[in-house]
Amino acid sequence: MRLLPTVAPGAFVPPVAAQAADPHSYAQPRDVRVKHLDLDLTVDFAHKQLDGVATLTLDWRNPEARELVLDTSALQIAAVEALDPEGHAHTLWFKLAEPVKAMGSKLTIEAPRHPQQVRIAYKTSPSASGLQWRESAQTAGKRHPFLFSQSQSVHARSWIPLQDSPFVRFSWHAHVAAPKDLRVVMSAPNDPKHPLEGSFDFIQTHPVPSYLMAIAAGDLAVRETGPRSAVYAEPSVVAKAAHEFEDTEKMIEAAETLYGPYRWGRYDILVLPPSFPYGGMENPNMTFATPTVLVGDKSLVSLVAHELAHSWSGNLVTAASWRDIWLNEGITTYVQGRITEALYGQRQANEETLLAVRNLEKTIGAMPENAQRLAPEPRQVDADDELSHVAYDKGSWFLRTLEDKFGRQDFDRYLEGYFNHFVWHSITTEQMLAYLKSNLIEEYPGKLGWDEVEAWVYGAGIPKDAPIPDSPRFAAIDRERSEFLDRKLAADKLDATSWNTQEWMYFLDRLPDAPRLDRMQALDAAWHLTGTPNAEIGMRWYVRAIRAGDKAAWPAAAEHVTRIGRLYLTMPVYKAFVATPEGLAYAEQVYAGAKDGYHPLTRMAVERLFERTRAGVEKNQTAPSGA
Ligand SMILES: [Zn+2]
Repeated sequence: MRLLPTVAPGAFVPPVAAQAADPHSYAQPRDVRVKHLDLDLTVDFAHKQLDGVATLTLDWRNPEARELVLDTSALQIAAVEALDPEGHAHTLWFKLAEPVKAMGSKLTIEAPRHPQQVRIAYKTSPSASGLQWRESAQTAGKRHPFLFSQSQSVHARSWIPLQDSPFVRFSWHAHVAAPKDLRVVMSAPNDPKHPLEGSFDFIQTHPVPSYLMAIAAGDLAVRETGPRSAVYAEPSVVAKAAHEFEDTEKMIEAAETLYGPYRWGRYDILVLPPSFPYGGMENPNMTFATPTVLVGDKSLVSLVAHELAHSWSGNLVTAASWRDIWLNEGITTYVQGRITEALYGQRQANEETLLAVRNLEKTIGAMPENAQRLAPEPRQVDADDELSHVAYDKGSWFLRTLEDKFGRQDFDRYLEGYFNHFVWHSITTEQMLAYLKSNLIEEYPGKLGWDEVEAWVYGAGIPKDAPIPDSPRFAAIDRERSEFLDRKLAADKLDATSWNTQEWMYFLDRLPDAPRLDRMQALDAAWHLTGTPNAEIGMRWYVRAIRAGDKAAWPAAAEHVTRIGRLYLTMPVYKAFVATPEGLAYAEQVYAGAKDGYHPLTRMAVERLFERTRAGVEKNQTAPSGA
């Protein structure tokens, strides 16, 4: 470990009240809470619709409450009924409000008699933000259509009417009808041997928040990877996926050794089409994963370590609101590093940590001060925008600091105790801190001051003594990179034949923002980066090549963003293109050809980038000195 150069933390901000209302949901959980959901869905590929009946079992908490308020987004509500204990239905009056951006439509149901169950018949919209419908031609096998969901952060409401806040937890049961020959999976225990006869049932007995509701349907083959794990993927992908993820059982065992038993039963992985907008989604029992980590050498499987770690941090103990999301992502990223270290050694774990740390150091200073805080003050942002590098990488850095100060043995015991104490609960940052104070900081006095904890959680920037792992190989790459840029080392003399994926990522990450064209050309001639099948390397390469003005890389960069819809691998390339008017025109043309294959979230992100750039380009034209 060594120390980071001084970066002053921002001023301490007093905590907001615990149990603050969730600004990203209309639900009123103090009045009434959903405690169980029964879902009956029909998957209608022809109309790109789910035809649904949701029956909510309610826990009324406020005797004065007169309404049940739910979140919906682009749902058609056909009927709302109260069910009495004998099963008789009574129509309830309801009002569906006009949609609000990033919130959807508030559904207000008049229910002064506090029915124990409310039943809602509805249909989803073909453009539901949480669902992607792919036609047969857009799948690997080209024979069957494909459907998958992505509910985090606030998109469950686009396919189920519910209280769409991570504060509310419920158990659920679903019956799903789908075309014969297709397999349906959900975020509950899945039976790998279930016959493909068009009817599936799922039971999630544990109370989960709405953003962990998930469904997929398609031509899915299954390969077991262990006694309680399997991969699900299109038939042409499943063998490759089973090979890449063959260490899954070892990962589960490594996590259990650290933090106690895996409590969910099965842990399966569904490999989605390349349009999946995220790397992975920790849907309980069934992680949804991007195929971009299938590179053949297991170098990117820490994604599985991450999603598996969410089985403790996030799924067992959940952030109460999106403002507290660092509790999910920071702790998970820390646990991910520990699983990676247990399976693949400290070198790999340190390299992955350093990639994240260096990236955060580079970007955090440019963020608004409030966005640099793990627990920001209340702010006007979309729920999806709360998920920033700060939550993941500053959060995990704080956890590594705690490990560093208190020692691995005591910190491991503390963290296992934290998971057990808050199991099946959604908690705020302030609840986590109260537990931290009495069970770690005051338990071992003199190791870390409370003011230092507050600087991490409520301060801006990175505290000055944040520990950084050593990596002799990264240090060697730093030397080679600067000699190469100074023309003291030819491109083909770089020691890169032995570089793993992380080492290539690190070499490319720390090139200048706009490298010299001749350096990029020399690099490409020696190492053939244009057209690489490794999308992590490709994304970094295309960004630098485009910024250097290397137009020879444009067609391959276009192919990269057309093939892959994962935001993290696609958006930086689009951003590099739009930096020049010619690049913007080219990117718009590429997007026109690619957008039918994109997820709604990716379409939204690219279109927003174009809009902002067009506005900015106009400004630059009137004030060229600012260019
Ligand atoms: Zn995560």
